[in-house]
Amino acid sequence: MSDACKLAAGNWKMNGLRADLDEARALAEAFPKPGCGVLLCPPATLICAMADVLEGSAVMVGGQDCHVRESGAHTGDVSAQMLADAGARQVILGHSERRSDHGESSALVAAKAQAAHAAGLVAIICIGETEAERDAGQTLNVVLAQLADSLPEGTTAANTVVAYEPVWAIGTGRTPTLGQITEVHDALRAALRDKAISLLYGGSVKPGNASEIFGIENVDGALVGGASLKAQDFGAIIAALEQA
Ligand code: PEP
Repeated sequence: MSDACKLAAGNWKMNGLRADLDEARALAEAFPKPGCGVLLCPPATLICAMADVLEGSAVMVGGQDCHVRESGAHTGDVSAQMLADAGARQVILGHSERRSDHGESSALVAAKAQAAHAAGLVAIICIGETEAERDAGQTLNVVLAQLADSLPEGTTAANTVVAYEPVWAIGTGRTPTLGQITEVHDALRAALRDKAISLLYGGSVKPGNASEIFGIENVDGALVGGASLKAQDFGAIIAALEQA
């Protein structure tokens, strides 16, 4: 664990109805004073309601994407300013599902991060290699290029978090070896101008593997998909991070 701020961030993806706000409520009750940052990123439809449920608690709410513009003719999109107005404090950007489903480039991610910063949001910028890129020995080249191209001017530890998420580990139950995570996180830390930027690992983090992953020096927390949907599972991951 480095000196950077510890963060457990949950990405609900396209999951969650109002009834699921009970999970957010249970999490806030279980962690009134967590020993790390705790964030839930529900779908946009639930941000306002979740912010209301979590008001006064230590659990933060975030978005999963934002547009580069503040407002305008962009049907179906949500701006960073709108997320902040709805109660979000952070926003996930450049998730591999957005890069693949919506063809988002690192240049676009950097522009979105700039919009997030301008709205006062912390940008959680995701990077990661595909399985084919890893098999070709290109992992470090790919993630370092994504890092260089996805972080805008003005990036600091106060407004940005980086999440390393190997694409082949997301939602698959497969995780890299501790050595593979260490190699990438060490390279990312060395490449960052602001060494205090938090570095999260993401990809099939579960209660059963969280402690060993958080034992890696340059891992400051996790971006968690499936295991963040239930307060009990996510709570066990948060407890592991508190103890790391
Ligand atoms: C993610 O969606 O960012 C993620 C890491 O998902 P999972 O934890 O389900 O692999």
